[in-house]
Order: sequence, then structure tokens, then C-alpha cells
Amino acid sequence: MRTDIGQVIHLADYRPTDFVLERVDLTFELDPTATKVESRLIFHRREGVDVTAPLILDGDELSLTSLLFDQEELDAARYDVTPDKLTIRELPAEAPFEITVTTIINPQTNSQLMGLYRTNGVYCTQCEAEGFRRITYFPDRPDVLAPYTITIIADKASTPLLLSNGNFLGGGNYDEGRHFAAWFDPHPKPSYLFALVAGDLGVVEDSFTTMSGREVALKIYVEHGKEARASYAMDALKRSMKWDEERFGREYDLDIFMIVAVSDFNMGAMENKGLNVFNDKYVLADPQTATDHDYANIEAIIAHEYFHNWTGNRITCRDWFQLCLKEGLTVYRDHEFSADQRSRPVKRIAEVRHLKSEQFPEDGGPLAHPVRPTAYREINNFYTTTVYEKGSEVTRMIATLLGDDLFRKGMDLYFERHDGQAVTIEDFVQCFSDVSGRDFSQFALWYHQAGTPLVTASGSYDPVAKTFTLSLLQMVPATPGQTEKAPMHIPLGLVLLGQSGAILSPSSVEGGEYERSVLHLTERQQTILFNGIAERPVVSLNRGFSAPINLQFDQTPSDLALIARHETDHFSRWQALMDLAMPNLLQAARDQKDGKSAKADKAFVEALLAAAQDESLEPAFRAQALALPSESDIAREFGGNNDPEAIHLGRQAVLTAIAEAGSTIFVQLYDTMKSNGTFTPTAESAGRRALRNAALTYLSYAEPTPHRALAAFGQADNMTEMLHALTLLAHRFPMSDETNKALEDFRSRFADNALVIDKWFSAQATIPGAGTLERIQTLMANPLFNAGNPNRVRALVGAFAFSNPTGFGRADGEGYRFIAKQILEIDQRNPQLAARLLTSMRSWRKLEPGRAKHAEAALRTVEAAPSLSTDVRDIVERTLKA
Ligand code: ZN
Repeated sequence: MRTDIGQVIHLADYRPTDFVLERVDLTFELDPTATKVESRLIFHRREGVDVTAPLILDGDELSLTSLLFDQEELDAARYDVTPDKLTIRELPAEAPFEITVTTIINPQTNSQLMGLYRTNGVYCTQCEAEGFRRITYFPDRPDVLAPYTITIIADKASTPLLLSNGNFLGGGNYDEGRHFAAWFDPHPKPSYLFALVAGDLGVVEDSFTTMSGREVALKIYVEHGKEARASYAMDALKRSMKWDEERFGREYDLDIFMIVAVSDFNMGAMENKGLNVFNDKYVLADPQTATDHDYANIEAIIAHEYFHNWTGNRITCRDWFQLCLKEGLTVYRDHEFSADQRSRPVKRIAEVRHLKSEQFPEDGGPLAHPVRPTAYREINNFYTTTVYEKGSEVTRMIATLLGDDLFRKGMDLYFERHDGQAVTIEDFVQCFSDVSGRDFSQFALWYHQAGTPLVTASGSYDPVAKTFTLSLLQMVPATPGQTEKAPMHIPLGLVLLGQSGAILSPSSVEGGEYERSVLHLTERQQTILFNGIAERPVVSLNRGFSAPINLQFDQTPSDLALIARHETDHFSRWQALMDLAMPNLLQAARDQKDGKSAKADKAFVEALLAAAQDESLEPAFRAQALALPSESDIAREFGGNNDPEAIHLGRQAVLTAIAEAGSTIFVQLYDTMKSNGTFTPTAESAGRRALRNAALTYLSYAEPTPHRALAAFGQADNMTEMLHALTLLAHRFPMSDETNKALEDFRSRFADNALVIDKWFSAQATIPGAGTLERIQTLMANPLFNAGNPNRVRALVGAFAFSNPTGFGRADGEGYRFIAKQILEIDQRNPQLAARLLTSMRSWRKLEPGRAKHAEAALRTVEAAPSLSTDVRDIVERTLKA
């Protein structure tokens, strides 16, 4: 039964609780279908609060079995209870009192995966954002912090492992074959960081000595038999702990740190205090079953959740509007970690690709919202790429504005000033203002104004006066609920390059602050004068992607080629190559519509091939250079009336033209990048595999037969190369016998490994063209598919909706109707998963009219369906709103 009616919550309505929670003492008697939860809570009335104010506790689908006040049964006249609320009246004016709440819950039938649930026989919790209220009645909000004592009782034979937050207090045997364990977490925390895991799992153990010399026990729990596949995660954890000490001075604060991998999980992972719970996809890896991409994700997510211990747990959010306080900041920290562990420019390229392909469409569509929103109907729908990735970019801009030393000082002040508190974005920004004396009031608009700013630039050189003038204009597009926008404070990385590629230093700069190669754009329109410029410069603008903006700057192909060849900032080299590629891809799509054959211009192809062959560049960078903008990147450039078919065919034509022009280069790269030794997951060897795979892609586009890809598939001794070859076969030659055989070989070899089978599902779900829908329907009937498992659903149905523009967007609308139907089915079990899948429709208004009509009709069927969850209702209504 749905009890949440989905009222809108407003930031402006925030006020502290009437009662202060002092202590929490929970006892769980675990049972698959009837777990008893006894919760003892000590409260006192906050000073100044009206003595008649009742205590109101949140619930969600709960049933109360007993309620005690100071150990005695509470008179029924003093409380009201519903499945989602417990109200208690006539409480003491000042003295602390104890409330004991007992509920019985059913983990077995909890298919939402929020609260206490079972996954592969393991008891597991997920409490962020509002899952704790599905366990017991509680003030379930992030500004209520308390120390927790937890006792878990369970059958010893079936459930030998009993875990919760904090330090282990002790355990022992109990009656009737049962046993118990007790845990104490001394660090006051909000309920969303509570966790309990119980079951029969294997463990990998290690330890870490902190900078002050304390030894911390490290444990990663996985299903029995999978222990060997957790060693990379353990290594990443130790590196994360070390890095946070060195880079931010942050030390771990308990005697033990645990990670548990589970196979049913709504998101990537969860930072519960001392007991992180992970989607097993982001823990388990070995060369035979994980791609380099998987290794990089594991490293990043292990780091992300660990870093939350300080940014999120020690200092948490006052309310859920402040989500970016912990998420944007922690993503920034994990990005920096990966940049330090791997290649900084290659990491930056990957971040920007991701930001542009996921966050820019969100920010430019009906679901656009500020990094710090001011209203929500369903908080689960605000775990978005805007809050996470744009939130990280905003943090990065603060670091760019201040420089490394002042940024670190600001972070130190934040940790010192707010440790143990639940705070706001204003508190965070104030720390940087205080250490620098800089005024952040205009900069703060990045948190409040939605939409990707568009900066238009033009330059002119005066050879007589030896001056260069740069004119900049900024515009923030209207977004839902925000029509008028103020100009933003935009830090633009900028250097001027001479014709030899060397950086030109101006004798002076007028019209704007320019320091450490960063120009501060603060006005709607700004003209910058660079004096003492001896030759016509080439401008490298928004260097390193210093600000998350769209840039409109007409640069000639030869200027872009100069940047691509000489910029010392390698991110900007890559950006210049993509800027060279884009007009070719746009033209090729137009040519498709007009029935003309596409060609790629020479300056672009030459620049691309020069980068591919440049041995002074790391292979990982060269692979990024060869990866053309995606179909969704091209669609975004068109900005409307999009025809996915024409975009796809045009891009294929450009790929083929490059493949033909560079065939000898690609043959050579494919051979020289072959690994000569045993597999290592290092960034360097991953880079060689990436470049080898890129070469194989082009080679297979220049050839009419699947033989080369098939040979690569047969020879691959690691998952990165095997999966790439399989995907190429499936995408290039979907109907060939060779492809069918390779798919079948892969399936039978990995049938017992669900995470690898997910790759098999995705490779097929992303086959371009109208025929893929039938394939998806067939695969959903495959015994290896499981509609109740979020990873399976995302790998098959999600990959189709998010990563297959021609299959999902087939002209007759069947793809949209299929997804609408899936959403309604999934919504019955798991609203979060359904709502997330529905966001694949967010750009429907940008489609050409025929497809847009089909997409809208499909959305209307979702909107009209009975008993929608608040999650899906919120997304569908915002998506359809004009
Ligand atoms: Zn996070």
C-alpha cells in the first residue's frame, strides 16, 4: 500500500525539530518475514519549544506492536499512529524521557530495496534518503544526530555474520540456536547512515595504519567463493585512506572499516558509517571478468564512499536540499583521487564526456533544477547528475578561483568549524570566503540558478597597436520555474598561443581580473583587452574545462589544429579535436537527410591521425582523441528537430572515412599496442588496451567482413578486449553467423557470472537499429534475465533506453511504448528504479515531430496509469509539463 502522498517540500519551510534526540538503542530479532525491531530513544524538549508540542515520528508502511514511555506502556489516549506517522502528546517540559517503539517488518517482501531487505539470503539495509522510517518510527531527517547502540539477534547456523555501524562491542550465544552481536557507534550520526548486514558471507581482511599510528581493521565481505575478486577493491581502499590523509589531512576514526558487496542494490554504493554497502558490480573484479572501465569505477566508488566519512558523515547535511554539500564535494574528491592515481588529463576528459552526455541534457530539459534545489516532491529523484556532477564542477571552480593552497585552507576551516554538525551550502561557501577575503555572493548563483550557461566569444587582433580584444557574452537559459537569470561569476581558463604554439604573455590586461591563466567573467557582456601581443594569437578558452558551460566560439580549423598540436593542457588538445570533429558530424547527419554521401574534411582527419600516432602522448589520451563525439553529443548540438537515424548514419559515414584514410596507421597501432606480458589493471596498460580497441573499431569499419573482430574475440585474454570485440561484432554485423556464434560462446562461458552476463545483455541492447527491440524482448525471456534485480534491468532495459538512440528511438514509436510498459511494471516493485528509467525520455521535445508525438503519447500512458508511485508521478509530470 502506498502511504506517501507526495506533498511538495520547500527549503523555505525548514525548521529544527522540537525534540533533541540524545541516544538510540536498537535491537533486531532477525527473521525473513517477521523481524522484530525494538527502538529505545532518549529525547528532551528543545529549549524554548512550546510545552504542548507533540513528538512526531516518521514511518513508512509500518505497523506498531508496542509503545512504552519510560519503560511503561503508553496510554492510548496519548498517541496516534498510522503506517507513516506516530504522534505522542503530553511529554515532559524539560526532563529527558525514553520512548520504546516496537515494530515488526518483513524483509523478504521488501522489493523496493529501501529499509531492511533480503538479497541472496543476506539481510541488508539501505536508509538514504528516507529508508530508516521503513524500519521503525523515528525522526528520520539528516539534522537529527545521535550515537547508536545496536544489538542483532539471529539464527546462528544460517546467519553467522552480524554487522552494524561503529566498533564491535561483543557477542555470544543465545537460546534456541540463536546468537547475538552488539555494536556501538560513538560518532553522532543521522539515521540515513545506519546500516545492518547479516548473513553468511566470505571475507577478505587487511589492515591500515593511520597517520597518527592507529591500526584499523579492514574487511570486505562478499559471497563465499568470490573472495579473490575483492583484492583490487581492498587495494583501492588502502590507497584512498592514504590519499585522504596526504591530500586533505583526514584520518579514519573507528577501529574497523567494513565493506559488504550485495547483488541487489538501487545505486552504486552507500557510505553508512564504518559499514559501506556496495552494489557487487563495484567491488568484484579480475582480468577474466572485469573491463578496465570496471576497475576504474571500482577504484572511484570505493574512494567516493570512503571519502564520505568526512564529507557527509562527520559533517552532514542539515536537510536534503543540501545534498550537493556531501555529494558534489565528495565527487570532486573522488575525481581528484583518480586524477592523482591515474592520468590527470585523461581523467578530466572522461569527466567532461560524462558531464556533457548526462548532465547537460538534464540541465537543458524539463527536469532541470539547481545544484541546490528549493523544492521537491520525492527526494529520491534528486540524486541526479546535476547534484553530483555539476555539484563537483562547482566545487572545482572554487578551487580554481582560490588556487590549491587557499582551497586547502578553506577545506581545513570547514572540517574544523563544522565537525559533528549538519550544515548548509552557505556554511560551506562561507569557509572559502573567510580564508580568502573573496566575495562569493555572485559565485553562489552556481548553486541556485539551473541551466548550462552559454558563453559566446569573439576575438580581434590589432597588429599595429599589438593588442588582442576578446568579447564575451554570457546567457543562462530559462529553466522550469526560473525564467529570469542573473549573470554568473564564470572562471574561464585562458591562454593566448602564438603561431609556434608557445604561450604569449600579455604586458597587461584590461577589462577583467586575469590571474594564474584564469579570466573572471562576471558581467553579462565583457570586453577584455590584452596588451603587448606581438602576433595574432590563437585563444585556448575554457582551458581544462574550468567552467561547466557551453561555449560558442568560431575558431578556424587551422587554429583548432594548432591547439590540438601545441596546448600544454592536454584536455584542451582533446577539446580542440572534438571541436574539429563536430561540424563534420553535423554536416554528415544533414547529408544523410538529403541523401548525399558524407565526407570528412582534411584538416580534421589529419589532426586526428596525427594525435593517434604521436608517441609523445600517452596511449590513453590517443584513444580518447580517436573516440568521436557520441550520437547524443551530436543531437545536443542540433538542439532540436533531432533525427536519431540521420545522426547515427552520418556518424558512421565519418567513422568510415577516417577508417579508410588511416587504415595503415590503425593496423600498426593494433599490433604495437598488443600487451606483452601478464595482465595488470594499471592506468598505463589500460591505456594501451584502449588505443588497441580504438584501432580495431576503425579497422572493422573499413572492412566488409567480421573476420578481424572475430579473430580479436578469439584471441582476447582479458575482458576489456574480449567485450570490445564482441560488441563490435554485434553492432557491425548483428545478423552474421560469426556474431551469433561469438555471442553464444560468451554466454555459455560466463553463464554463472551475472555481472559478466550483464555485459552480454548490454552489448546486444545497444545494437543500432529498429530490430533491437525484438531482440530485447527475447532476451527478457532468457533464464539469465531477472526483472527483480536492478543490475539486470539496467544492463538490458536501461542500456536500450539510455544508450541506443536508433533502437529506442525507432520511427514507429514502438521503443517508447515498450519502455513505458516496462516502467509501469517495474514501478509495482521498485519505484526508484522505474523513475530512473523514465528519465531516458527527458529529451523528447528535442526529437523531430513524428517521434516526439510517439514519445509524448507513451508518456501520457504512464501519466494516466493507476497507482503510480510518487517517484514516477513526479518525473512523468515534470517531463510533460510545458
Ligand atoms: Zn556519494
